[in-house]
Amino acid sequence: MMVGAVLVQNTSWTNAERAIGRLASSRALSLTGLRSIPETRLASLIRCSGCFRIKARRIKNLIRHIDRAGKGGLKELLGRPAVRLREELLAVDGIGPETADCIVLYAAQRPTFVADAYARRILYRSGFLAKRDGYAEARTNMLDQLPSDAAILGELHALLVRLGKEHCRKSSPRCPDCPLLGVLCAGVRSRDN
Ligand code: SF4
Repeated sequence: MMVGAVLVQNTSWTNAERAIGRLASSRALSLTGLRSIPETRLASLIRCSGCFRIKARRIKNLIRHIDRAGKGGLKELLGRPAVRLREELLAVDGIGPETADCIVLYAAQRPTFVADAYARRILYRSGFLAKRDGYAEARTNMLDQLPSDAAILGELHALLVRLGKEHCRKSSPRCPDCPLLGVLCAGVRSRDN
């Protein structure tokens, strides 16, 4: 999950999944495997996810951070309170807010809101966000309105991503057959694009 959160940066989940498959078939998809694999080899295995040299360095940075977390390693790290875990992840070179929130939400199963581009676009168009907030503002805004429950927030994020891909696309949104139309959203024409 943590590796996937890095691999999906600036690409589709399909490409990230292919890279994960290559890591798994090379027996590198484990703490031990990722610790021992040379960075150049790691980069070549994840080439299909794009920006592969940068992502290989970021994955190595994460592994070093896990190793520094103490003898409990990954379990110790993911067991920390959400706020502290998020702050620690953000201090790792190459881990931004979206990646940190994905790790907190899906790997640590702690409540947070992943205010990615899909979420911000849908929430703005449907009126849940009053303006085109940036990541931090949108996240805070939504966390103030939503239950602090990782399962609900994870499901919500997954549904927003799906809606963003299938209906609420950046260009040519498919409002007429969107399940939110008339229920939670008046359609893209009700707001500027
Ligand atoms: S109705 Fe249109 S603007 Fe609203 S969420 Fe659906 S696709 Fe997006």
